[in-house]
Amino acid sequence: MISEKMKPLVQNNSAIREMFEEGNRLAKIYGRENVYDFSLGNPNVPAPPEVDAAIRAILDEEESTFVHGYMSNSGYEDVRSAIAASLNERFGTAFHQDNILMTVGAASGMNVLFKTILNPGDEVIAFAPYFLEYGNYVRNYDGKLVVVPPDTETFQPNMEAFKERIGEKTKAVIINTPNNPTGVVYSDATLKKIAQILTEKQTELGTEIVLVSDEPYRELAYDGVEVPYVTKYYANTVVCYSYSKSLSLPGERIGYLVIPDALADSKTVFAAATIANRVLGCVNAPSLMQRVVMRCLGAKANVAAYDRNRNLLYTSLLEYGFTCIKPQGAFYLFLKSPEPDEKAFCAVCKKHNILVVPGSSFACPGYVRISYCVSYEQIERSLKAFKAVAEEYGL
Ligand code: PLP
Repeated sequence: MISEKMKPLVQNNSAIREMFEEGNRLAKIYGRENVYDFSLGNPNVPAPPEVDAAIRAILDEEESTFVHGYMSNSGYEDVRSAIAASLNERFGTAFHQDNILMTVGAASGMNVLFKTILNPGDEVIAFAPYFLEYGNYVRNYDGKLVVVPPDTETFQPNMEAFKERIGEKTKAVIINTPNNPTGVVYSDATLKKIAQILTEKQTELGTEIVLVSDEPYRELAYDGVEVPYVTKYYANTVVCYSYSKSLSLPGERIGYLVIPDALADSKTVFAAATIANRVLGCVNAPSLMQRVVMRCLGAKANVAAYDRNRNLLYTSLLEYGFTCIKPQGAFYLFLKSPEPDEKAFCAVCKKHNILVVPGSSFACPGYVRISYCVSYEQIERSLKAFKAVAEEYGL
């Protein structure tokens, strides 16, 4: 019964999800507190208090048929206008409501965008390691994902390999900073270089190449590191934002696309993306959540809680002899596997009730992702198990 396109998806069902289910199985045997599940990026920090307060206030103050009703397929105008104003204040941009399209999270935002711009056979470039769903989103519209191999010294983009992969079929390039799974943040210099390469290639090839900035982790950056706003570097940029991680609302499915005036054919792209939102069946982003985020534009993620986790985990793992670069953002740590086959390393970790995700799930074998959006106590309890794993490898 199922389609040919779905068959490989069913066969390779997400390793991360499988790991999550394995965590539940182990928890039943050993007790939840003795299983150290670092597999999913599901924030354990509760949503800021402004979120619940906004939900209550909306239900009290706004009319029920309005709050729960349909609106324009691109979202409420007052919400889009407030988001544009907030971005302008924070980043010195000049957006207006018709640059903002409300989406069902970043995942849906990217699908809307690719539905809008991809023809069959068009290529989309991603830098390994990358969020593996990108390949599925691109293939949904018969596009082809082209992967730039990682620079495992820095996990910054490998610019030479990037240049070589841009061709006539290149329609888009995805960047994700702060990055899942490495925690790396792209600097001003990195973004300038990407913009320069794309600008030169557009001129050389006579094509338009869209830079897609996937930004669910924008607000999660540490040690005062700056996360530059990408539209300032390159005109053909579309930002794909999500509140899933910044406001700890992953199940509520709310985010937006920024389609700036500077993008080629901006108005047509915006109109087409609005239709894509409808015909993909989203129709519009969740109404209540649109009204909530408008009231929470000043709310801050609890970055301090993640930072505390990051510091404990990073310093402890280094002390035990493991190798990894220090994450500057997001809530992931990308650890070098002490043996070449990182899946075998994951199996050793599992023996000690530690669940981590193999790097091959991010097109970067030889590493594992540790998701530290868990309780501080879980990290504290897990340290003896990590130490035992290090000892097993003689680190
Ligand atoms: N992009 C990256 C890099 C992610 O890590 C995730 C979720 O983990 C998403 C997109 C999807 O986010 P959303 O919940 O907004 O769909």
